[in-house]
Amino acid sequence: MGKTTNGQLFARAQGVIPGGVNSPVRAFQSVGGTPYFVARGKGAYVWDVEGTRYLDYVQSYGASILGHAHPKVVDAITLAAAEGTSFGAPTEREVLLAEEITSRVPGCEMLRLVSSGTEATMSAIRVARGATGRDRVILFSGCYHGHSDGLLAGGGSGVATLGLPASAGVPKGAVAETLVAPYNEVPDVDRDVACVIVEPVAANMGLVSPLPGFLPGLREACDRAGALLIFDEVITGFRLAYGGATEVFGVRPDLWCFGKVIGGGLPLAAFGGRRDLMEQLAPLGEIYQAGTLSGNPLATAAGLAVLSELDRSCYAELAERVGRLGAGLAGALGPDVQVPVVGPLVGLFFSAETVTSYEGATKSAATGRYPGLMHGLLERGVAMAPGAYEVLFPSLAHGDAELDRTVEAFADAVAAGL
Ligand SMILES: *Cc1c(COP(=O)(O)O)cnc(C)c1O
Repeated sequence: MGKTTNGQLFARAQGVIPGGVNSPVRAFQSVGGTPYFVARGKGAYVWDVEGTRYLDYVQSYGASILGHAHPKVVDAITLAAAEGTSFGAPTEREVLLAEEITSRVPGCEMLRLVSSGTEATMSAIRVARGATGRDRVILFSGCYHGHSDGLLAGGGSGVATLGLPASAGVPKGAVAETLVAPYNEVPDVDRDVACVIVEPVAANMGLVSPLPGFLPGLREACDRAGALLIFDEVITGFRLAYGGATEVFGVRPDLWCFGKVIGGGLPLAAFGGRRDLMEQLAPLGEIYQAGTLSGNPLATAAGLAVLSELDRSCYAELAERVGRLGAGLAGALGPDVQVPVVGPLVGLFFSAETVTSYEGATKSAATGRYPGLMHGLLERGVAMAPGAYEVLFPSLAHGDAELDRTVEAFADAVAAGL
């Protein structure tokens, strides 16, 4: 693909795109160096514009579970594109995808399709507020729920506090009703709380599992207060298990947010939940929400193609393989590094102890070891995300050879002092 280099493209990108990237996580700001510009991907691999191949654990931050350019997904998109890319009228595949998703997630009776996880969480919060007539939202530090104003709140460490804007440009008023609590501690849920939103497995601060009482405790606290529980399953949905986190942990929220996997790499996300809540959305009810490209024909085609490949056996297989990868990495990295594994998700913490909160995750990041290791792996042909708070996303295209190579690359990097 031409003779351009990563450095040349990055220089040009910085002239016309802030920081040279269209999402800050893609910049190498926190790890140093120049991002590689991807020319193409296939299965577990990506190739940059200079022709260098990387074994890819970024996998679009979890949007890809079959690996890149899976033939079934490519075919589905190609066929759909030839029939027209957007109509502004309902289409059959929207119904099929909503049926498919609701059939897999017990309790999720109705669904609305949107185009990004940010829209899904923002809209689910609106449903919760509209349905309860309350304003307050509780979220957990270290969880990420997209970049809408009300959910970009930072809090104090270790205690529940009213949120402060976590970004310039977010007005104080937008987070005035957002309470930020420590992950893995059940907060007091008062009767003015509309909802509690949580990543059932936190995968945006490295990988942090819910402690045994946490999710059931949230369910109980919400029930006592008449508040709604929202699972933000934008990462965990259809990745952790066939039915997502609900199936794994046996806790049923009132509303769900999905994204990433269900779009097969195209812009698609969804929020859904109990029928009585979802039927309060316009045009049936008073809660407004809309989208020109919602339920887009290409995105629903890709989503259906992906889900049709994901039967129960895939999850067992992926979890088994990734379990071995996790054990291999833990062996290579030694006792001062934690390699948490939940289903097919893998994290890395530079810590001798298990990390259960954002405080632990920040301590791990503060060791400063991640950037060196990440670059060391990149030099050895293995790509992890350029940020210490990301997880690894092995796909179904990561076979034994790829996993063995990964462990070898880690061992080699560690031997080199990284
Ligand atoms: C990625 C992510 C989002 C936001 O999704 P976008 O499609 O990037 O807007 C929301 N919640 C979680 C848990 C995510 O990982």
